[in-house]
Amino acid sequence: MLLVNSTGVIVTQQATTTTVSVRALWQQQLAEAYRDPEALLHALKLDPSAFKQHSKARQLFPLMVPKPFVAQMRPGDPNDPLLRQVLPLSDEFHSPAGYSADPLGEQQSPIPGMLHKYRSRLLLIVKGGCAVNCRYCFRRHFPYAEQRLDNATLQQVCEYIAQHPDINEVILSGGDPLMANDRQLDNLLDRLEQLPQLRRLRIHSRLPVVIPARLTDTLRQRLNASRLQTILVLHANHANEISAELTTALKQWHQSGIHLLNQSVLLRGVNDSAEVLSQLSEALFAADVIPYYLHQLDKVDGASHFAVSDERARQLWQQMLAQLPGFLVPKLVREIHGEASKTPIMPNLEDSGV
Ligand SMILES: *Cc1c(COP(=O)(O)O)cnc(C)c1O
Ligand code: SF4
Repeated sequence: MLLVNSTGVIVTQQATTTTVSVRALWQQQLAEAYRDPEALLHALKLDPSAFKQHSKARQLFPLMVPKPFVAQMRPGDPNDPLLRQVLPLSDEFHSPAGYSADPLGEQQSPIPGMLHKYRSRLLLIVKGGCAVNCRYCFRRHFPYAEQRLDNATLQQVCEYIAQHPDINEVILSGGDPLMANDRQLDNLLDRLEQLPQLRRLRIHSRLPVVIPARLTDTLRQRLNASRLQTILVLHANHANEISAELTTALKQWHQSGIHLLNQSVLLRGVNDSAEVLSQLSEALFAADVIPYYLHQLDKVDGASHFAVSDERARQLWQQMLAQLPGFLVPKLVREIHGEASKTPIMPNLEDSGV
């Protein structure tokens, strides 16, 4: 028997025993994610036979999509911008020059699961896995799907932070850090809060976008109670991803003093129009989220069909400037291996007639 209580927790009661196991709603929804393209296409009223030629691409990176995200897709539309982000395509076998498995050189680090590329920010890979497999992701080739931050590693990380006084912000990343449960995150925060040099805690996650129920009250209250200023950086690429349920939860988080930002990836066939990007900014701000970054795609094997040229990216960005208030125009950047920060993609002065 399944009972959903007022906090969204599903209580599974087995009539034959006295055992009561508690699983949060988001964990239930995670377990029920689509992993079979045919079942996904069926749910969207699309013809699976048209997909046959693409099915091999699943071997490159498995399909995984939670149902609340599928509910935001348009049934019957094979070009739906949300579907395009998750459906394997035979295009993934193309690997043009300049594309590689590890474009950011991240598969080397002094402590596994820790990246210290930018002076004041330390990035921790809390969980290697994600709730959704995005076809454009630069992490699609990473060997760390099951990686998690264990206590021994966390101890090493805390020592590393103490030895690097410039670090004032810890970024929880992944995979997706919100794949960790609320208790694990609570423990992690307890440790980080003891380091006086830290001012901020940032969480980069796509999980709330695909499963809004991940924004639990427990986690919200824990972050609100932290002495660290907390920032949640969402990862949404299209206005259709910002559901009413997600908006409600985000507004509540914002009211609890959590800063909300968003980063997107510029993706051909998904959001490569000024109108779509402007709608995304508007939908984000309606949920109290500020657009932070618009990333040029990392040149990862299997994602070249999503690429948008820099020239086109600059053009789109200038069109956004003309349509939106400045605070709703994200910074257009790319990540270059070895640079001290994300690298802004500057408008061409010739383009603007200067
Ligand atoms: C992107 C990134 C950060 C954060 O950079 P900001 O510009 O502060 O958002 C930190 N560490 C690593 C390894 C990154 O890739
Ligand atoms: S790391 Fe982010 S973009 Fe990559 S698969 Fe996970 S959720 Fe998607």
